[in-house]
Amino acid sequence: MAKDKKLIVANFKMNLNMHETSLYVKELADMVKVHRDVEVVLAPTTLTLQSLSLQVNHRQFKLAVQNFYWRDSGAFTGEVSAPQLRGIAQYALVGHSERRHIFHEHEKDIRAKVQAAVRNDIRPILCVGETASERAEGETHSVLHDQLIGGLINITSEDLEKVVIAYEPVWAIGTGRNAMPSDVTAAIRAIRNQIKHLYGAAHAESVQVLYGGSVKAESAADYLALSDVDGLLVGGASLDARAFTEIINKAHKAS
Ligand code: PEP
Repeated sequence: MAKDKKLIVANFKMNLNMHETSLYVKELADMVKVHRDVEVVLAPTTLTLQSLSLQVNHRQFKLAVQNFYWRDSGAFTGEVSAPQLRGIAQYALVGHSERRHIFHEHEKDIRAKVQAAVRNDIRPILCVGETASERAEGETHSVLHDQLIGGLINITSEDLEKVVIAYEPVWAIGTGRNAMPSDVTAAIRAIRNQIKHLYGAAHAESVQVLYGGSVKAESAADYLALSDVDGLLVGGASLDARAFTEIINKAHKAS
């Protein structure tokens, strides 16, 4: 996807049942204009992905899976694999802080998921970010370094073109706490620097990096104005059709 397109991702988390999701996406579809400079991605509950893939206009909305297992098939009761999602989800969240911290996903799971997504033509959105205590200890950049190295093992520079990175400070997710734009810039520069070490300057420039953490309609423009920010990952505010539409419109104006 071209870098001149802002990427706005809605993470519905474990909210809305199938019927509610369908109604909500219909409401959203009536409000959201298709902008050539904005790609809107919806990450609903996995249950609804297939029906939404038939319901949505794919120029208007792409779909993302919130989680999946990295093996392709086999005796893994309760899991969904990337090949099963192929053609249904175009993106996948990987390493979201709720997966890392509530479900104790380790770097080895995260890197396997990044690779499985890429292998199956699904763009992984690799989420990285420090906790409040890591920030207080001055460890933000080393945490980002470790999560990037861990998540991108075995990803070639060609594969990297399919990978999106989301900087999501854990202390800002679902808390209503806003990261200062200057802190977001510093963290995303550190991410691009790390990509430069791993893949070279051109990739550091071209890799898409999003910001996420309690973004609201009122704060979206401040983050979108940052030259290092290529889009937003929105949780809570994406469940309010008006607020989410406003965020999309701001991305269009910021492009
Ligand atoms: C998220 O789920 O990635 C997120 C950023 O959530 P919220 O916007 O609610 O902080």
